[in-house]
Amino acid sequence: MAELFYDADADLSIIQGRKVAVIGYGSQGHAHALSLRDSGVDVRVGLHEGSKSKAKAEEQGLRVVTPAEAAAEADVIMILIPDPIQAKVYEESIAPHLNDGDALFFAHGFNVRFGFIKPPAGVDVALVAPKGPGHLVRRQYEEGRGVPAIAAVEQDATGNAFALALSYAKAIGGTRAGVIKTTFTEETETDLFGEQAVLCGGASALVKAGFETLVEAGYQPEIAYFECLHELKLIVDLMYEGGLEKMRWSVSETAEWGDYVTGPRIITADTKAEMKKVLTEIQDGTFAKNWMDEYHGGLKKYNEYKTQDEKHLLETTGKELRKLMSWVNDEEA
Ligand code: NDP
Ligand code: MG
Ligand code: MG
Repeated sequence: MAELFYDADADLSIIQGRKVAVIGYGSQGHAHALSLRDSGVDVRVGLHEGSKSKAKAEEQGLRVVTPAEAAAEADVIMILIPDPIQAKVYEESIAPHLNDGDALFFAHGFNVRFGFIKPPAGVDVALVAPKGPGHLVRRQYEEGRGVPAIAAVEQDATGNAFALALSYAKAIGGTRAGVIKTTFTEETETDLFGEQAVLCGGASALVKAGFETLVEAGYQPEIAYFECLHELKLIVDLMYEGGLEKMRWSVSETAEWGDYVTGPRIITADTKAEMKKVLTEIQDGTFAKNWMDEYHGGLKKYNEYKTQDEKHLLETTGKELRKLMSWVNDEEA
């Protein structure tokens, strides 16, 4: 069973005794920086020249400096900028300011796990990752609750890295809900696998294939959209609340019977064999290398895939249909 840690297991005074730099002020960055501050932690935000989020951070009362200045001032540096640019910012602005006893923190293990960032031996390296988007993390904190988080230590130079990570997690509300101990390897590999095989890749491909099957058989795209995409939310909400059991309790017996007999015809032993291949390519670094090559090569294929799907009948149909649903919010969070 997983090891869980709560408020009583974490000592807030540890992080309150440190100087924290939050590099980046996006989804996670704003939530961490504001909640650290509200927990009585000495925090500054590191943002690059011309940053769009700088004004917002200052408006919210935070002190903003460059990533290099933030890293130089602080002894705990949390990197919360997009994963593909972390290695460059680390080399240029953070590494030159790392001293023995400092701590380098992440919310995702990607760069450390695949060796794009190699911190020096005297530095603690830890991960604190809330299991939810930054806006929820901040809202829960403000309401006196928290989003569950995971924490891991990759390098324990001081011998106190995990206690520091738990203290940080407490300051952003994580231990109010519960913090699960993991490793950089487990966090990174399961995160990549989940988003590729199930959450983003698997779900998009399933929705598209179902939609195309109905439309190619002559059914109206609008009806196919409702069946294959729109209703997915209702089903996933039920699973989220009460697992497969609650979903099956809520749907009709006919739907439940179809679930049992047809599901395994769609996700077959072949699909699972392919999932294992996907996992192997994540574990051996093939995926990470290919993705970084694509990213730094100018995102050609990425943009091709994006444009292709934007033109897909599923997307153009959905765009029109969602206008009929006043309660569906299509704006960015
Ligand atoms: P965002 O994409 O929201 O981060 C954007 C921030 O990074 C902005 O403040 C942006 O500045 C800043 N930024 C961009 N380039 C630079 C640069 N060169 N130097 C300094 N700052 C820069 O990131 P997320 O919050 O989504 O992700 C941060 C980390 O958290 C990642 O490791 C991610 O895997 C992890 N994570 C994310 C979760 C999420 O909910 N999104 C959940 C759990 C983990 P500006 O826009 O002002 O130019
Ligand atoms: Mg991810
Ligand atoms: Mg139905």
